[in-house]
Amino acid sequence: MAAKMSVAATIDRTKVYAETIGILPKAPPLRCLYCGAGVSFVPQHTREIGGKVFGVQGYFRLLPKTSHDERCTFNIQGKLDTIARRSLGVLQALEEGQYRFRLLAHKEMRDLSLHSSRINLSRRYDQREAHSASASIAEHLLLSAYLNTAKRVLQLHARCQADNSLRHVIELVFNGLSISWDEFYYEPERYLAAYRWLGRKYASFPIAIAGRVSKIEAIKTRGRLLHVVKLMPSTPEKYVRDSTVAELVGASVWCSQESWLQPLQQDDMVLIFGYWAQASAHTLTRVARSDKAAFRKYLERRMTMWLHSRSQIIRL
Ligand SMILES: [Zn+2]
Repeated sequence: MAAKMSVAATIDRTKVYAETIGILPKAPPLRCLYCGAGVSFVPQHTREIGGKVFGVQGYFRLLPKTSHDERCTFNIQGKLDTIARRSLGVLQALEEGQYRFRLLAHKEMRDLSLHSSRINLSRRYDQREAHSASASIAEHLLLSAYLNTAKRVLQLHARCQADNSLRHVIELVFNGLSISWDEFYYEPERYLAAYRWLGRKYASFPIAIAGRVSKIEAIKTRGRLLHVVKLMPSTPEKYVRDSTVAELVGASVWCSQESWLQPLQQDDMVLIFGYWAQASAHTLTRVARSDKAAFRKYLERRMTMWLHSRSQIIRL
């Protein structure tokens, strides 16, 4: 398993970029820029998912039967193994190279933060318990280990080729049931799916929302200064019940610590992991001001989250 590469090198170590190499009549023999493993160029192409056609930018990938050096920056499996080793058992090892990540219920995470102070950091994770579905990992780890592992996994996921991603090597589990990555990970095109999922009664595990920062604000509410990051809303989509109405979804996260948001800037790509919910005032209706607007009315759905730790917000 390897990352999609946007850069490679020729045999004489000249750097080449996926964006510009397509101009050459024939790609020369290529290597990984960092470890020298043989790679080939995959030109720009289209891909069909669920009846829709998407454009895929050109990139470099490993030649068959080759692998990156263990310490190469593009060695995803190696990086994943390292994350697992340092995760204090949060990532449970299954068969070789396969892992399981248990999504904790909100209450479990709260209990974890209460127990954290009593847990011995050096305590070794018991491999035998990894295979027991009923093993409670809550007693064995710190909240920070849980959140940091989630952060590292999500960062790594963002670097993978779409058809070669962590979906195949990390099984997500909640309450003993296997959860699909589609229920866990949402990009802006699927905000509506996330919003609907949050509206279900059993939506009780943490999910990851990816997006671009549109605004960072400080808002005074009930005598308290709170800080909020708003993500760019999804593209308006035709409402199923009325084609003159559009639905879009906005996402925002709140916290009381300004320093947690300081590294962020407008337009940054971020991933936010945690217990998202539909906002209490979860739909704002806006009537189009101009006759030229594509829709008569816009239903702005809102989902929101309170940050418990800075590691829940991941800048890509
Ligand atoms: Zn490499």
